[in-house]
Amino acid sequence: MKLHSYWTDSAPLFAPAQEALPARADVVIVGGGFTGLSAALALAKRGAKVVVLEAGAVAGEASGRNGGHVNNGLAVDYALLAERVGSEKAGDWYRAYDAAVNTVAQVIREENIDCYFERNGKLKLASRPAHYDTLARGLDRLRREVDADVELLNASQVRQEVDSDKFYGGLLQKRSGQMHMGCFAVGLAQAAIKHGAQIHAQTPAMKLERITSTGHAHRVHTARGVIEAAQVLVATGATLHGNYGSYGFWRRRIVPIGSFIITTESLGRERALKVLSGRRTYTTTANIHNYFRLTHDDRLVFGGRARFAMSSPQSDAKSGLILQQALAQMFPQLGDVRIDYCWGGLVDMTQDRLPHAGQHNGLYYSMGYSGHGTQMSVHMGQCMARVMGGELSANPWRDLRWPAIPGHFGPPWFLPAIGLYYRLKDKLL
Ligand SMILES: Cc1cc2nc3c(=O)[nH]c(=O)nc-3n(C[C@H](O)[C@H](O)[C@H](O)COP(=O)(O)OP(=O)(O)OC[C@H]3O[C@@H](n4cnc5c(N)ncnc54)[C@H](O)[C@@H]3O)c2cc1C
Repeated sequence: MKLHSYWTDSAPLFAPAQEALPARADVVIVGGGFTGLSAALALAKRGAKVVVLEAGAVAGEASGRNGGHVNNGLAVDYALLAERVGSEKAGDWYRAYDAAVNTVAQVIREENIDCYFERNGKLKLASRPAHYDTLARGLDRLRREVDADVELLNASQVRQEVDSDKFYGGLLQKRSGQMHMGCFAVGLAQAAIKHGAQIHAQTPAMKLERITSTGHAHRVHTARGVIEAAQVLVATGATLHGNYGSYGFWRRRIVPIGSFIITTESLGRERALKVLSGRRTYTTTANIHNYFRLTHDDRLVFGGRARFAMSSPQSDAKSGLILQQALAQMFPQLGDVRIDYCWGGLVDMTQDRLPHAGQHNGLYYSMGYSGHGTQMSVHMGQCMARVMGGELSANPWRDLRWPAIPGHFGPPWFLPAIGLYYRLKDKLL
């Protein structure tokens, strides 16, 4: 079993020519995940001189380590959000995810990226009868206000396409998609380079020094030199690099939470379709939930929180064993399949589970996709390019307040307590 991501392992090699860092740029983007790469593509297409600085490998963190879902819909319950902020705002945010899936499709089309993108919908599977009732209660409002295509499936309808007796029904969101994340990442990075962006891997931006107290220009300090940039976009997700003075604002607001994935050997087309005939993306409604889908080569990619822990090869392997048990319970007929890959990554969780984007002290930023960001990161890269060109209304999250999380300064010391709470909730509700 390989302890790294199937997506990066099976993607084409990405090895851009190593150039010297320039002394000046129009825009420096800190972070070479989907947010940073997508912004680089959009800005370079507008003629800006763009430099992406990535601390590790390009798309080596969440963007190359996720479950491969490109889903529409919010990460939070629509009805609850609408109660809190009103239907108009909640509706705008819900529709931002439709737009985000469309953006992914558009980038793939325009840049001709070969990444097995398919739009087969997402099925949210009710793990308990009460969860099905909640899905049913929210259906009318969802259909009326934001998603006329959404459909409720009862237990026997679900059983016809998901060969497991563990579910009590499900909600089908037909606008969702899926893709091969490694192929997409390489295609996106190559497209950005083709349009003139420079991408520097293994180059952490250690310090961001504002040149004047009111402007956007910064000196970006790296071990390879300093770049003066007229604008800087911070697109660092959940990974911590660089000094606290430069990144403390985001560290007090983003909680990095581990999520883990196993991937089976190829099941073969016939067996794969017997288990999941719709080839959709699937998530369960349990508090410590699972998410899964088939790949183009008929592997099952099966993920979940498993343990409330950070990701490291040792931690990933421990979580992998828990996921293997969960997989065998859900699909006993797959109890004998070989697990070829096991990995983990960090989700950039926010307190309200909504993305946050805007400006802070002259720095532009977009992050906090809360485990639901393969589409939104690509979309926000494009939106932030427009915002940086002066079109502030291009940011769908511009009105959202983002207070710091009390007692949180970086590493999430409180995760074990949260894990215990959700485990208890799963036992009781
Ligand atoms: C295990 C897992 C499963 C997931 N599954 C799904 C899913 O199925 N569907 C979905 O929609 N979302 C999913 N997500 C979330 C999704 O992958 C992310 O929301 C999205 O990829 C975020 O992209 P990003 O570019 O903002 O962040 P990242 O991909 O994390 O990129 C940020 C980059 O910034 C770099 N960086 C940080 N600090 C510095 C610095 N100082 N200097 C230079 N570089 C720096 C990091 O090295 C990193 O590469 C999952 C995430 C994980 C971890």
